[in-house]
Amino acid sequence: MTSRNPIRTKGFRLLTIAACTLGSFVIGLVATRYGMGGVAGVPAEIVGLSMAALCAFAAASSAASFFAGVDESVQYIYHETQHDKLTALPGRQAMMARIREAADRTRSTGSPVFLIDIDINRFKSINDAIGYSNGDELVRVFADRLRQVVPLGTAIGRIGAGEFALLYQDQGGAERVDIFVERLFDLMTKPYRLSTHLQSINLSIGIVSLPKDGFEPTRLLRLSNLALQHARASGVGGWAVFHPEMGEVADYRQWIEAELNGAFERGEFSLHYQPQHDLSTGRIVGYEALMRWNHPSRGMIPPAEFIPIAEETGMITTIGAWALRQACLDAHRLPQDCFVAVNISAVQFMTRDFIAQVAAVLAETGIEPSRLELEITETAMMQDRERAAAILKDLTAMGLTVAVDDFGTGYSNLSYLIDFSFHKLKIDQSFIQRLETDASTGAVVSTIVGLSRALGVHTIAEGVETEHQATLLRAAGCHIVQGYFYGHPAPLPVETADEKPLLRAVG
Ligand code: C2E
Ligand code: CA
Ligand code: CA
Repeated sequence: MTSRNPIRTKGFRLLTIAACTLGSFVIGLVATRYGMGGVAGVPAEIVGLSMAALCAFAAASSAASFFAGVDESVQYIYHETQHDKLTALPGRQAMMARIREAADRTRSTGSPVFLIDIDINRFKSINDAIGYSNGDELVRVFADRLRQVVPLGTAIGRIGAGEFALLYQDQGGAERVDIFVERLFDLMTKPYRLSTHLQSINLSIGIVSLPKDGFEPTRLLRLSNLALQHARASGVGGWAVFHPEMGEVADYRQWIEAELNGAFERGEFSLHYQPQHDLSTGRIVGYEALMRWNHPSRGMIPPAEFIPIAEETGMITTIGAWALRQACLDAHRLPQDCFVAVNISAVQFMTRDFIAQVAAVLAETGIEPSRLELEITETAMMQDRERAAAILKDLTAMGLTVAVDDFGTGYSNLSYLIDFSFHKLKIDQSFIQRLETDASTGAVVSTIVGLSRALGVHTIAEGVETEHQATLLRAAGCHIVQGYFYGHPAPLPVETADEKPLLRAVG
């Protein structure tokens, strides 16, 4: 440890101790020789030599203990600065040193080592939602579990707020890295018992291998993070091994992140509306508001590309609040018997004052609460079930309706549905797309409709593209349909001063 903090070299220390010893010995000798005679019959030379020896011993021990003190403080400071206080794991700097050591080892042995970067998705917003002390507790229990899951001797570090790194060596009959990461992912995404509640999380994991991807710690950490971002962008989370094309994706991502800030101020966002039809009457009952970003040089950027980034940077709170307000304003231009459905991101839903925000928008825009529907994904609801249940209860009490978006994609355990107040299950479009080709999907859709009946809620099918799909959905007992077969998302027509007749269909 001292070698990394070379305040004094070994040679310098020996020299200092030797000089103190010799100096004190000489001074002791001179003092006794010229200052006094023999004591109690002991000859002056012997007394002189003993005094000088005592002086030398005292000087040597004080010099040595000075250095021991220096070492102790160095170790203390080193530990304090290199280790994360919360988890007692090495921090980012210390982890870089471990990566450097691992790189040196692979250079000489040639056997691969994997740097695995693990990030808790949306850690910042989880922290904001559950409070910092619960956030700290989550980090601690996460680190504890990580220690138990990895093979003995694996270096672990905490390299960011919700980000950890591992150095995994797969050799000598140990698990292959992909099998290890699969297992790691499964175990680390099981819910965490905190003192106040059960916290679910999702992870993104990026992997680079040494020596294949290089030796330099900063670069390796950057590449593993790129792979991680790639894993995150691909959907609900998961893991990815670094490959060179990821660099281009990262450039695009960075570009979006940089552009997003200005885009809002420049007013580049707008809402398009897609109709939702009642299957039994054919009547339009509502419109889903879908965000569009029209960039001056790149043109239309699809929400799937910018919403996840806006969620990570926190920008979604601003854009999402705008979408909610704008949709409520636009509702005045839609038929009075139609509702407007607004997508609410997990980050927005978990914001502390979300209920107050919705109430303020309702009051300001004067829209009937029954004309506002919020589409919230099941993943968003599952982040903190107790809090989600309370928020949903409040929203329902305000008189608006809630649809569980992308239903069927997130959780196989449906017991959570019983705790939640909501009005519609929105069957994910992946099921609708498979309806015509895969017989078992029909059974799944019928089961969802049956379930919704038991829960006393309605079903919407999204992504309906063909008449045949509509027929199958009608047969299954689905209530509402939405998709290209009925109408594409489209902007509201430009407002005219004498606009009176309400729109029946947009697009
Ligand atoms: P989503 O909520 O699942 O929205 C449905 C998506 O399916 C929309 O994509 C819609 O244009 C598309 N779609 C509609 N009918 C069909 C069809 O027949 N076939 C196919 N293949 N697709 C169809 P879009 O507009 O690109 O939005 C993508 C996602 O972005 C949305 O998925 C939603 O998660 C998110 N999003 C859009 N607007 C907002 C918003 O204002 N706030 C938030 N938080 N998320 C938004
Ligand atoms: Ca939606
Ligand atoms: Ca959806």
